Amino acid sequence: MQFDRVTLPQESAALRKEVRAFLTEEAAHIPQPNSDFSTGHDPEFSAKLGARGWIGMTWPDTYGGGAKSFFDRYVVTEELLATGAPVSAHWIADRQSGPLLLRFGSPAQRAQYLPAITRGESFFSIGMSEPGTGSDLASVRTTAKPVADGWLVNGTKLWSTDAHRNHFMIALVRTEKQTDDRHAGLSQLIVDLHNDGARVRPIKNMAGGEDFNEVVFEDVLLPSDRMVGEPGNGWSQVTSELSYERRGSRCQGISRAL
Ligand SMILES: Cc1cc2nc3c(=O)[nH]c(=O)nc-3n(C[C@H](O)[C@H](O)[C@H](O)COP(=O)(O)OP(=O)(O)OC[C@H]3O[C@@H](n4cnc5c(N)ncnc54)[C@H](O)[C@@H]3O)c2cc1C
Repeated sequence: MQFDRVTLPQESAALRKEVRAFLTEEAAHIPQPNSDFSTGHDPEFSAKLGARGWIGMTWPDTYGGGAKSFFDRYVVTEELLATGAPVSAHWIADRQSGPLLLRFGSPAQRAQYLPAITRGESFFSIGMSEPGTGSDLASVRTTAKPVADGWLVNGTKLWSTDAHRNHFMIALVRTEKQTDDRHAGLSQLIVDLHNDGARVRPIKNMAGGEDFNEVVFEDVLLPSDRMVGEPGNGWSQVTSELSYERRGSRCQGISRAL
């Protein structure tokens, strides 16, 4: 079968030039190009991208987004990655936490969290993996029990990239006892990594750097309004979130079986 050759719309080609010019101007932020998106945590650079409208580019303008096409977002992403720009601070929030909140978050959550993400001021971590829980994500053991004021969380998250630098984590937790249906009873909660009392411990890698973390929850009380979507709907939400994570130029090359 023959497919027509795809050419970028003219606006996207113009945008590419604009991004390249910006990256030349901001060369001081790229003293040593990064080999991937997960190194190079530079909040000042993220704020500059936010000011250009290059974070949350496809989101509605109601929440500070640019209401631009995915084509345009692709162009910006491709140029940032090709140059090795320091994008890791806002990367997860832009790629998956924001889109997750747009799709499943309450209007109040969207209004609270999304504009700061688009300004490049609010950074998110992924709270999926745990000790013994990686590829088999449905085996998460961190629990959140409903209490009068919200949810009482206990458990440990692992490999949480940049949790020691970021502001929030969206954690996958078990809110109901596990049954034969391993995918039932899971939920997602927003954790304020600075103020909720979770203990964040950086893990040194073999090169001496600190990117990953262990995040321990011991009777951490989260207010009810931190629940993303419906309690118990976590599996369907987290798999939708993973589809933002594992595709295109914004994916990371590790697979997670579902
Ligand atoms: C750079 C990086 C950043 C990360 N950041 C985060 C983060 O921010 N937040 C977070 O939650 N997690 C994060 N992770 C964790 C990552 O998502 C997990 O490492 C991944 O899901 C795999 O889990 P695991 O390491 O426990 O491997 P395991 O699940 O122990 O798997 C080990 C090996 O066995 C294979 N395997 C497993 N099960 C099967 C099976 N049933 N059949 C055949 N083969 C199998 C796997 O493919 C793999 O090769 C990060 C990982 C990396 C490398």
